[in-house]
Amino acid sequence: VARRSEPRAERLAGVDVGGSALKLGVCASDGSARLEETLPVRADESAETIFAGAARILTELAEGPLAGVGVGLPGLLDRAAGCVRQSPNLPWLEDVPVATVLGRHLGLAPAAIRLENDANVAALGELWLGAAKGERELLLLTLGTGIGGGLILNGKLYVGEGLAGEIGHVNIAADGPPCGCGSRGCLEQFASASAARRRALEHGLPAEAPGDLVRLAELARARAGAERVLLEAVGYDLGRGLAAVVSLLDVRTFLFGGGFSAALDVLTPGIRRALVEWCYGERVASVRLIRASLGSSAGWIGAARLALG
Ligand SMILES: [Zn+2]
Repeated sequence: VARRSEPRAERLAGVDVGGSALKLGVCASDGSARLEETLPVRADESAETIFAGAARILTELAEGPLAGVGVGLPGLLDRAAGCVRQSPNLPWLEDVPVATVLGRHLGLAPAAIRLENDANVAALGELWLGAAKGERELLLLTLGTGIGGGLILNGKLYVGEGLAGEIGHVNIAADGPPCGCGSRGCLEQFASASAARRRALEHGLPAEAPGDLVRLAELARARAGAERVLLEAVGYDLGRGLAAVVSLLDVRTFLFGGGFSAALDVLTPGIRRALVEWCYGERVASVRLIRASLGSSAGWIGAARLALG
């Protein structure tokens, strides 16, 4: 008689908390045998309900004990308290003791649940199993509603005192538009997907829906016209932000994730022009602009990597 199932090695679990859904998955400690699922989140649900649902899915996927769990979260983390202090787009998440709540539903101590910023776990995911495999120094930018940043230095995630890598809030214009962070003229006010749509509308281009950026990028590829001018200008502003990173850290590999990264090819001429104008030295020629390869799975995969320690 065949046994019902072989005993399984302990699995790692990752959770990526996003605005409209949680992305969850489990994998082996070498990143193989990945299983993932998406848990949609309704605006009226409590954090308790959401994390109970997440724990149920992880338990089903793992079919056995979990060696550790990592969670990627948008906003400013308080790692010691195991929660997010500020999350402008996800107010339900603020001050929720995530490690305690999720741990309780999984039967794990809060210490077994590791939290990290969402862009940071995406960078870890790409470093572990994606387009950044084997890299030593890189910055991952997620181009979406805002611009998230995950910095890898010397082959490891670099958080500084805790909040490093926030490229989206590097100032590129003293008199620029106000930003959700309380400052103004931040990079994400010029080069996020939301900012690109706002700029397109200002130029009389159709960009009411998020998907319209895809069409604008297609037109920019196809012909020299207003779409190409716009996306090159957006790329140029992005490049000004990257130039600050090159100057400060000499990081020369930039990885782009998030929905708007699909337009990287038409943003690239602007980015390169800005790098030439705003960085000194011949190193600009060796700057690499690469698309992330794990898509929306990068976050949970990186979170699972975090759980590995
Ligand atoms: Zn800002």
